[in-house]
Amino acid sequence: MDSIKKILNELTGEMIELQRDLTGIPALGPENGGQGEKEKTDFLANWVSRLVPDSLEMINAPDDRVACGYRPNLVAQWKGRKSGPKTWILTHTDVVPPGGMDLWETDPYTLMVKDGRIYGRGVEDNQHALVSSLFAVRAIRQAGLTLPRDVGLVFVADEETGSALGLRYVLQHHRELFGPADLILVPDGGNEEGTGIEISEKSLLQLKFTVTGKQCHASTPDKGNNSLRAVGHMIVELDRLHGLFGAVDELFKPAVSTFEPTKIEANVPNINTIPGKDVFYLDSRVLPQYDVDQVVAQARAIAEGVAAKFGVTVEITPGVDARCAPPTSESAPVVKVLKQAIRDILGKEAFVYGMGGGTVAAFFRHVGFPAVVWSTSEPTAHQPNESCPIQAMVDDAAIFAQVMLQDAVS
Ligand SMILES: [Zn+2]
Repeated sequence: MDSIKKILNELTGEMIELQRDLTGIPALGPENGGQGEKEKTDFLANWVSRLVPDSLEMINAPDDRVACGYRPNLVAQWKGRKSGPKTWILTHTDVVPPGGMDLWETDPYTLMVKDGRIYGRGVEDNQHALVSSLFAVRAIRQAGLTLPRDVGLVFVADEETGSALGLRYVLQHHRELFGPADLILVPDGGNEEGTGIEISEKSLLQLKFTVTGKQCHASTPDKGNNSLRAVGHMIVELDRLHGLFGAVDELFKPAVSTFEPTKIEANVPNINTIPGKDVFYLDSRVLPQYDVDQVVAQARAIAEGVAAKFGVTVEITPGVDARCAPPTSESAPVVKVLKQAIRDILGKEAFVYGMGGGTVAAFFRHVGFPAVVWSTSEPTAHQPNESCPIQAMVDDAAIFAQVMLQDAVS
């Protein structure tokens, strides 16, 4: 591994140059007023071809909102000495818009190097890991080492706007690329120390409650039925969900399921009218061990109980219902191999964790491929003056190389 580290240190300047080239090609989806990822992905395909992959394939998802008519997903593969589980590293080419330009100290699409960091839109999310994955392969080749197992790099489009034309499209049309025993890394999140491996997420459930009473003048409440009073009691009663689904799973932060009343729609415009209709929302993040249908049923029972008590009606409409994918096992080969690589390169002990929101890895997990989210990541993504520490890019490349070079995987 020392030779790989040495080579990567020598290649640091080239890593920065690749970052500079990529930053100069804004890849924004049509939702963000862009022409997609074609130019950036074509550039990448050309760059990757110099690493002599055994196969290089463009998977184009049709999209008539962009001039070229498609959104490109690039897959490069290198053969290993033997068949068996492959190593995959998946990164995305698209970026988010710069946001308020006055908040940027430099042009977002012109790379700036300063005090061991690089600045520009996309340098962290997701070019940091994208460049690291390419230089992992490059360093292995330069060291004259042969890959024990097949390695694939995937560069997907449309990550920032839902992945329908990115990873989801790839999995719908080319699922055969991947196998359940493969080691799949999605380096698009993590912690600053490079020690957090995300393996699981909570289900997301959003419910809309429409409560109907009877509007009247505030001076004669007996003539109507105040929907807001019923809502107040309903929100308090819905807190019982915490007890009904009270399991604790220390994998997550927070370690419990959460049930939060969030949005409430405006009701009457004036103070002296008793409202006859109120709408509020509950955002729930449910631990994977629970059936989301059970949560809906209990929320309904609680709300209807309160409604009956106050003589109002309640209609419950499900909004976003994103059931969590099966977690990647803590003992999955990808977790073990990655932990060992982090130990070898960084001298640190990694831990596994879960998240309250969804990740791209969930698309893999939903179809039976255990994937992990990991990288050395500072929270500069999507921000003005997005930046990436150069050393983290080099270290992550060494860790990817170590994972690729792992011979025995079980
Ligand atoms: Zn990202």
